[in-house]
Amino acid sequence: MNYKIALIRGDGIGPEVVDEAVGVLNTVAEKFGHQVEYVDVLLGGCATDAVGKSYPDGTAERCKTCDAVLLGAVGGPKWGADKPAEQRPETALLALRKDLGLYANLRPASLRPAMTDACPLKKETADKGIDLMMVRELTGGIYFGKRNKYQTEDRGMEATDLMAYSEQEIERIGRRAFELARLRRGKVSSVDKANVLETSRLWRNVMHRLAAEYPDVQYEDVLVDNCAMQLVRDPGQFDVVVTENMFGDILSDEASMVTGSIGLLPSASIGDGAPGLYEPIHGSAPDIAGQDKANPIATILSVAMMFRYSFQRAAEADAIERAVDAVLAEGWRTPDIAKPGEKAVGTREMGRLIREKV
Ligand code: ATP
Ligand code: MG
Repeated sequence: MNYKIALIRGDGIGPEVVDEAVGVLNTVAEKFGHQVEYVDVLLGGCATDAVGKSYPDGTAERCKTCDAVLLGAVGGPKWGADKPAEQRPETALLALRKDLGLYANLRPASLRPAMTDACPLKKETADKGIDLMMVRELTGGIYFGKRNKYQTEDRGMEATDLMAYSEQEIERIGRRAFELARLRRGKVSSVDKANVLETSRLWRNVMHRLAAEYPDVQYEDVLVDNCAMQLVRDPGQFDVVVTENMFGDILSDEASMVTGSIGLLPSASIGDGAPGLYEPIHGSAPDIAGQDKANPIATILSVAMMFRYSFQRAAEADAIERAVDAVLAEGWRTPDIAKPGEKAVGTREMGRLIREKV
């Protein structure tokens, strides 16, 4: 196959981790006989420095000529909240997600087999294994509803945030979750608060309609408060967890913490008919930038997700994930995941070890 991939190296440790991920991508492509072409896309603080704005004209169009986008990280104190919006890196990332129509955020929380002792949960829970995928709706719900703040006659100020969802918005994210479950262990847990919220009752109705269309996928409803509890009690019970924007924001952070290693977690944002955006969940880590200390594994595993979910190439994804697990099983660690006193390797050496295993 021929793949064309947009590279947004970004700021801080972004360029370093993207370099190692590209190295692994090239090795996998060679092994499986694919041709890969890269398009460099300037976005983030580095774009502000180069051309005066963090989201240069034509960025989305450049990305749309590609099959997928790989992003390192953007941001840093140099382009902080005191700068105008068009110079801030975070603004650029939100604009890109919107212009590409990315409405589903996929965040796996998987405990790598060699890293079970990093898991903060009970040993029996960690030994059972954790491999779940949070699917968060990204473009609707209370974060995008009408806001209001006004003076009342007798109760001081009052504020409101409107939570709204349409059947169409729920159906497209739901369908994604069922399709993903078919590529995984075949189970969908839909999280809502249907005992209280009207949006959740609509959510649940649509999910039940979809569940009937996917009889091969096991389906359950979970209330959000119960889900928060189950994630620390027994996260091994979950495969695909699908939920609306705000619940997903909160639960995906909770789920990533139960693996104990933020530097190992990839993510993806996907839409219909536009390239998916793949990136590590961590930020630009300006404190360690340029020192060959950053852990490249989250970005390398983002490439595995790209093969699995954008290109439907499970064998390539498995090859990358197996290589990462083999290197970790041999005891190789970057400083962020090394135990005190344990010897660590740098960003480039970690990348080389993983390429060698692939
Ligand atoms: P953002 O606002 O972009 O999410 P942040 O400050 O919240 O940024 P990170 O940039 O992810 O978070 O950094 C948090 C801490 O984790 C920092 O101390 C950083 O050095 C460390 N860190 C983040 N990513 C990595 C990585 N890939 N390898 C090693 N350490 C990392
Ligand atoms: Mg952060």
